[in-house]
Amino acid sequence: MVASTAPDVHIFRSKLPVIDIPNHQPLVQYILQRASEVSEKPCLIDGPTGRELTYGEVELLSRRVAAGLANVGIKKGDVVMILLPNCIEFVLTFLGTAILGAIVTTANPFYTPAELVKQVKLAGVKLIVTQHGYVQKVSEIASNGVKVILTDGEFENFEHFSVLTEADENQCPNVDIDPDDAVALPFSSGTTGLPKGVMLTHKSLITSVAQQVDGENPNLYMTSEDCLICVLPMFHIYSLNSILLCSLRVGATLVIMQKFDLATLLKLVQKYKVTTAMLVPPVILALAKDPTVLNYDLSSVRMVQSGAAPLGKDLEDALRIRIPGAVIGQGYGMTEAGPVLTLSLSFAKYPFSVKSGSCGTVVRNAELKVLDPETGAALSYNEPGEICIRGAQIMKGYLNNTESTSLTIDEEGWLHTGDVGYVDEDEEVFIVDRVKEIIKYKGFQVPPAELEAILISHPDIADAAVVGQKDAKAGEVPVAFVVKKKGSDISEEQVKEFVAKQVVFYKKLQTVYFVDTIPKSPAGKILRKDLRSRLVHYQSA
Ligand code: ATP
Ligand code: MG
Repeated sequence: MVASTAPDVHIFRSKLPVIDIPNHQPLVQYILQRASEVSEKPCLIDGPTGRELTYGEVELLSRRVAAGLANVGIKKGDVVMILLPNCIEFVLTFLGTAILGAIVTTANPFYTPAELVKQVKLAGVKLIVTQHGYVQKVSEIASNGVKVILTDGEFENFEHFSVLTEADENQCPNVDIDPDDAVALPFSSGTTGLPKGVMLTHKSLITSVAQQVDGENPNLYMTSEDCLICVLPMFHIYSLNSILLCSLRVGATLVIMQKFDLATLLKLVQKYKVTTAMLVPPVILALAKDPTVLNYDLSSVRMVQSGAAPLGKDLEDALRIRIPGAVIGQGYGMTEAGPVLTLSLSFAKYPFSVKSGSCGTVVRNAELKVLDPETGAALSYNEPGEICIRGAQIMKGYLNNTESTSLTIDEEGWLHTGDVGYVDEDEEVFIVDRVKEIIKYKGFQVPPAELEAILISHPDIADAAVVGQKDAKAGEVPVAFVVKKKGSDISEEQVKEFVAKQVVFYKKLQTVYFVDTIPKSPAGKILRKDLRSRLVHYQSA
């Protein structure tokens, strides 16, 4: 597909037609647009307790929370931090804050007090909604004047969540919301460095949700008959947008889990006849390899999506064997991109046939190009380069950081992802790896994700990660961290040989370190920076 800006610039677009996206309105009005049609239907189910709220209740309680937030002094443009595991109160706080024209910043509850202080200061947080279990973590912040509300109790001068849910919904102030006002301030995952605050507006989030679930042929076809499982943390944009907001938009039921535990996940899928699961590669790995899965009835599942990190073709195929009734595909996202850039067209209402291992096709109403890292020229089909995306869904910018913003979004509005990938002749996108993670062996490029996919396809290997190790001759050489399957006595030589048989000489593993686990972020990303610092430690020991 050739086109628009300059005659020789390749711009890739969705195979789905452009649609009208009503992104001029406030986010919650759009998200809960159909709530009245499904008001009696379960909207949220808390997995561990079985507590349920209908759409009608969620709609009412969100307005009460908005009124309650106004009562405790929160105004349009103020920042509220949600420091919670997945729970019903998380959702109500998000919606209530957004109704008020205020901004939600989400934080990982496992953050240390120092990490929280940093985010609170950077974001200018006025109020933290958290649980009793985290009062120690926020006590210093509270002593500096930030209000704290607890979802499950009271503590000193911290109030209980009922001050929000018992407010009078009629007192919810009327606010003028501009489509370009920020509504969410998630932080990127911190895989490559410190997490960055990302400003997403009402317009960007509506656009992103619409690109996924709206239109006569939605890219991600879901209806009010669907039941989704939410196991990924809502503080990460994948879960907040693609799971929570998309589920609310279509009027589906969302079963919420607080943390990943395979048996609980399987039990809930069976109990609630879950139809749709949006997951990350470590969970896919467990579903494809763990024998526990065979004890459960997963026949209700019709769609499984993997996102947030690379998933190799072999693992995708292995899952397909385990859940033969489900369409399995990937999405590719990045916090700054709103977050979804590409999505499998196999999830569409009228699906397209797609290839295993692909991340899907660029979402509709958006443009994607692939840049040659050396010349900056836009590349054509099958040529790998840096993926760039443009559209109303991308972030407004990094918080208080115009310099990083202008390095990421160029003057023509293209967001540069830092990911290497290519688009094949069927418009399907394949991610090779991050620019920063690619190992350079004497100038040859070795993507760790490719070697990791080979390693985990070995029946004796439970998990693996590959990083570059400094080398006097080659510059860098690939080395692997490998977790053996229980009971396996596979040797370093056997692992090396298994890989060597499948790759060109410069991709061969130099060393294999056997470890108990691979460090991963809560959103399922391999923390290669932690492994690289371990290597430095090994080398100096
Ligand atoms: P930070 O930017 O703070 O270092 P991060 O990039 O991991 O962290 P996120 O915004 O959560 O933060 O993740 C986006 C990145 O995740 C993408 O740039 C890409 O590298 C990776 N990613 C997401 N989905 C996929 C996918 N389907 N396949 C391969 N990589 C993916
Ligand atoms: Mg990033």
